[in-house]
Amino acid sequence: MLPPLQNNVPLSRLSTFGIGGPAAYYAEAKTIKEMQALLCYAKEHSLPFFVLGKGSNSLFDDKGFNGLVIANKIAFMECKDNTVFVGAGYSFSLLGTQLAKMGLSGLEFASGIPATVGGAIYMNAGANGQQTAHALKEVTFVHSDTKIQTFTKEELFFSYRTSSFQSMKGAIVSATFTLEKQDSARNRQLEIIAYRKKTQPYNDLSCGCIFRNPPGDSAGALIERCGLKGHSYGGASVSPVHANFIVNKGFATAADVLALAQHIKTEVNTRTGIELEMEVRFVPFIS
Ligand SMILES: Cc1cc2nc3c(=O)[nH]c(=O)nc-3n(C[C@H](O)[C@H](O)[C@H](O)COP(=O)(O)OP(=O)(O)OC[C@H]3O[C@@H](n4cnc5c(N)ncnc54)[C@H](O)[C@@H]3O)c2cc1C
Repeated sequence: MLPPLQNNVPLSRLSTFGIGGPAAYYAEAKTIKEMQALLCYAKEHSLPFFVLGKGSNSLFDDKGFNGLVIANKIAFMECKDNTVFVGAGYSFSLLGTQLAKMGLSGLEFASGIPATVGGAIYMNAGANGQQTAHALKEVTFVHSDTKIQTFTKEELFFSYRTSSFQSMKGAIVSATFTLEKQDSARNRQLEIIAYRKKTQPYNDLSCGCIFRNPPGDSAGALIERCGLKGHSYGGASVSPVHANFIVNKGFATAADVLALAQHIKTEVNTRTGIELEMEVRFVPFIS
């Protein structure tokens, strides 16, 4: 059954940046069947679609998105021994915390990342030496033609903030992770969340790190060395807490964030010869 479609839904409410114009069409998929129905609708009406998690790595265009935004709300979680089967709309942070409390290790770093499981797999999110792909066993994906397929990890490609899904069209709907039993998991997860709160502008509007770390280097350290901490453009500012975070002071536009990011790229390149690459994904309006 097709879930209800809404028109002109502000994307600023659906991204942790708090930025973005309206989605022409918006709907929520709470089940795999609903996801299939929405992808089928997009195909039949030749609508561009965007699968949304928690919007914690998505910078939406000021004009919005001229298509269908499908919010993934498939949010079940079943855990047996050291294996967890989870809906792709489940909170990644909650999953990391719950597993650590059960003495299961592999996703402690997820605690505090404001993502869905699907978004974390798509981005191969990581921190503290762990990444999503490490503990992954299988992923179920609905292709844009609504065909459903389960991939083992070995059939997929993952590297730093990269996954096979970035070149596929459709939606991750569920995943299975295999964890290791470790009594120290809960302590590690608590240390990670405490460190995160100390070193990141946790309560500001942002999409986390704006740039990927260049090989063997830290984008934040490079930006800081170029004296750009606190530098602003319009309503966007380089966080004084963590130089690789651009924060929205409350009135930033996507154009402000992109202009500030471009300025940072140019300064870092001029001074160090290093070309920074955006980690946050800009989602254009599409005319
Ligand atoms: C305070 C803060 C801290 C952060 N810390 C970290 C960190 O430590 N490590 C890290 O790696 N990242 C971090 N991030 C960035 C962000 O949380 C991750 O990139 C995360 O993986 C994005 O998940 P999401 O569900 O919010 O994805 P979204 O922003 O909703 O989407 C991101 C991309 O994934 C695609 N996508 C999402 N769900 C699906 C799906 N089910 N099927 C197919 N495609 C999908 C979208 O289409 C989009 O292209 C942080 C962000 C914030 C705001």
